[in-house]
Amino acid sequence: MTDRVIHVLDARLASLAPQRPRTLVAATGHVADRLDRPLRDLRISVTDRCNFRCTYCMPKEIFDQGYPFLRHAELLSFEEITRLTRIFIAHGVEKVRLTGGEPLLRKDLPKLIEMLARLKTRAGRDLDIALTTNGSILARKARELADAGLKRITVSLDGLDDAVFKRMNDVDFPVRDVLDGIEAAGAAGLGPVKINMVVKRGINDQEIVPMARHFRGSGHVVRFIEFMDVGSSNGWRMDDVVPSSEVIRRVSAEMPLAPVDRNYRGEVAERWTYADGSGEIGVISSVTQAFCRDCTRARLSTEGKLYLCLFAQKGYDLRSLLRGDAAHPALSDAEMETVIAGIWGERDDRYSEVRTEATARAPKIEMSYIGG
Ligand code: SAM
Ligand code: SF4
Ligand code: SF4
Repeated sequence: MTDRVIHVLDARLASLAPQRPRTLVAATGHVADRLDRPLRDLRISVTDRCNFRCTYCMPKEIFDQGYPFLRHAELLSFEEITRLTRIFIAHGVEKVRLTGGEPLLRKDLPKLIEMLARLKTRAGRDLDIALTTNGSILARKARELADAGLKRITVSLDGLDDAVFKRMNDVDFPVRDVLDGIEAAGAAGLGPVKINMVVKRGINDQEIVPMARHFRGSGHVVRFIEFMDVGSSNGWRMDDVVPSSEVIRRVSAEMPLAPVDRNYRGEVAERWTYADGSGEIGVISSVTQAFCRDCTRARLSTEGKLYLCLFAQKGYDLRSLLRGDAAHPALSDAEMETVIAGIWGERDDRYSEVRTEATARAPKIEMSYIGG
């Protein structure tokens, strides 16, 4: 157990100091990495804290009272997040997803959404702002989030059976409150809501068909996610993964499905519609069918490290460049743009395509730290 705790800390503390630029490179709205992937999406973690202890993400025995969560002064401020987002937009980012930890626990989150909603993409369009939440306090926040400029929402829900769901969130949280949150989000104009269910064999796979049945015809879209080897604390084993192909087979046996094209390059979910037109579901197969080739996502941690992959072991410390220190001045926007272009240009991550038993056991950052 001690060994596992050390892994968690090691991975989070490891950081790369980006090179300070000597000459400036103007942003053109397009940067390509080494595999010719553009930078289009930015996922921003706004807190590393959470009120759930999902066993696959923040197991209680590690994320306990003694766990060193980030202190307030370490977090990027809303001004810093907004400034960085503007810089990422200069490189072509069009979508931002707020995540965590549990993002709704970050104080005054609607204020951040308002600030981000004032930004425009390079093409002059509104920035697409989405949020992923466990839904626990969504019922009372949905309206305020929508009014602030949130466009879309994803709610995580791992089953409809209270006993199963409580075993997964490990804090005795009932299904009903999350369902109320989903309803409130729909009523506030945030629909169709995407509902993420992480499937673990023998734990909640019996909930696959009931979840599909429940949300069929509701306008909301359930997405079944293969349990991933993110982080180093969740004891991942391939045997626990239910392949998406099996999910489709099981749902289709009761409610026939047909495949549909993805909405856009880089969409993570593979889409399937009910043959009778009563809606659609999605599957996210990052274990059995890697989609790294189209991965256009950068991730910003709560304290301002840039990660190029969900399974990265190290992040680039952007906060130190934003803030400067006694020995180094803070960088200008143009300098930050140059730094980020340089980092993205070197990116060659494709973890899911090259996953092995050994890489699955290697220390990595935690999902609760970097967000989904
Ligand atoms: N707390 C929020 C929530 O649960 O929606 C946002 C952060 S959470 C880390 C983002 C997403 O990652 C959730 O949908 C969660 O189910 C998913 N997730 C966490 N650990 C995972 C794992 N080991 N495998 C697959 N998905 C995981
Ligand atoms: Fe919290 Fe989300 Fe992780 Fe569950 S999946 S522990 S709700 S951050
Ligand atoms: Fe992107 Fe890394 Fe996931 Fe591949 S493994 S899709 S590169 S985040």
